[in-house]
Amino acid sequence: MSAMDDNDGGPGWLGRLGRLLGARGEQSTAAPALPSADDALDVLPEIQLLEAVISGMPDPVAVLGHDGRVLAFNAQASALAPALRRGEHASIALRMPELVEAIRAASLTGKSQRIEFSTRLPSPRFSEAFIAPVALAGYARVVVITVHDLTPIRRVEEMRADFVANVSHELRTPLAALTGFIDTLQGPARDDPAARERFLGIMQAQAWRMARLIDDLLSLSRIELRAHQRPDTPVDLIPIVRQVVDGLQTLARDRDVAIEISAPSDPLVVLGERDELTRLFENLIENGLKYGASGKRLDIALARVPTNAGPEARVSVRDYGPGIAAEHLPRLTERFYRVDVGESRAQGGTGLGLALVKHILNRHHGRLNIDSLEGEGATFTVRLPLTTAKPVDG
Ligand code: ADP
Repeated sequence: MSAMDDNDGGPGWLGRLGRLLGARGEQSTAAPALPSADDALDVLPEIQLLEAVISGMPDPVAVLGHDGRVLAFNAQASALAPALRRGEHASIALRMPELVEAIRAASLTGKSQRIEFSTRLPSPRFSEAFIAPVALAGYARVVVITVHDLTPIRRVEEMRADFVANVSHELRTPLAALTGFIDTLQGPARDDPAARERFLGIMQAQAWRMARLIDDLLSLSRIELRAHQRPDTPVDLIPIVRQVVDGLQTLARDRDVAIEISAPSDPLVVLGERDELTRLFENLIENGLKYGASGKRLDIALARVPTNAGPEARVSVRDYGPGIAAEHLPRLTERFYRVDVGESRAQGGTGLGLALVKHILNRHHGRLNIDSLEGEGATFTVRLPLTTAKPVDG
C-alpha cells in the first residue's frame, strides 16, 4: 500500500497524516491542538512532516500552534529570528512588534494578515510577512508565517526612480539654457550680431550635450538588453585601439596632450563586438585627454598577460593629470556619478561613460581596474580573456 492510499487513516504516522490532510473543513471548536514538541527527541510525526515540507521552501517559514507556541520552522526562519525555539512562544523570538501584533490578530480573527516591516541589522532589509491561520481537520487552527524579502525589489524601484530623476535633471539643465538664450535672442539681443553669434555657439553646445546624453542612454539600454549574450566574433584589440587614438588626435592636439602607444607585435584577439570595444576605448582615452590634460601625456599600453584563468589582454590608459581621490574610485562606474559635476559638464560629459564601459566589459566577460593617487594621475586597465581563434578583419 502506498502513502497515497493510506489517507483514510491507518497505523502509524501515515495514518495520522491521512487524517490530518483528509477531511478539510471539519474542524470543531473542541478539536485538539496539534501537539507541540518541546525538544528534538520527542518530535512527533506531524511536526516532522511540517518541518520536512517547510525545509524545502526558499523563504523563511514558521508554523505556530493556536496558543502562539512555535511548532516548526525552517533554516531561513532561524536565520531571520535566531531565537526561535520549538515549544516556546513566538513573541519571545520575534523582535518585530508589528509581526507579533499581526500574529495575534490572525489567531483571534481567523483572517490572513499581510504586513511589511524593516530590519536594520546586519544590513537594512525590507520584508513582507503573510500570516495565515490554517484549519487542519481534526486539530485546532495553526498559524503559518511566511516572510518574503522585498529588499531587491525596493532597490530596483529606488534605482529606477533615481535614474528617471537624474535623466530629467540632466535634460532639464541644457533645455533651460536653450530656452533662456532663445528668449534673449528674441528680446534684448535681437539687434546685436556679436551676442547672437556667441549665444548660438553656446546653444549648439547645449543641444549637442542633450544629443550625446540620449545617445549614451540608448547605448546603455541596448547593451543591457544583450547583457547575457557574450559576443563571439574574434577581434584584434590592437587596430581597434589605434583607430580610436587616430580619431581622438584632434582632441589631443587641442588639449596639448601627447599620446604614446605600446603594443606587442602579435595580435591580441578576444571574443568581442567591435563597435562596443571601440566605444569602450573611446570613453577611456577621451576621459584621459579631458580630465588628465594637465599631465600633457597619455600612455596606452597593450599587453598579453598569463593568469590562472588563462591568458588575458590588458589595455591600460594612464594619464598624469590630477588623479582621483580614493573615496570616489568604487563609485565611478555608477550612472551619473562624477567627481566634479561642473567639470564634467564643462567637458561635455554625460556621467554615463564609465557605466557604459562597465556594461560593455560585463558582456565581454572582462574587468576594469582603476588605480589612482590624487595628484599623480589615473590608470584605467581593461582586462579581457584572450582567444586562440583567428581575428575577423574589420
Ligand atoms: P563623464 O561623462 O562625466 O566623463 P564618466 O562616467 O566617463 O562620465 O566619468 C565619471 C567621472 O569620473 C568623471 O566625471 C570624472 O569626474 C571622473 N574621471 C573619469 N576619468 C578620469 C580621469 N582620467 N582622471 C580624473 N577623473 C576622471
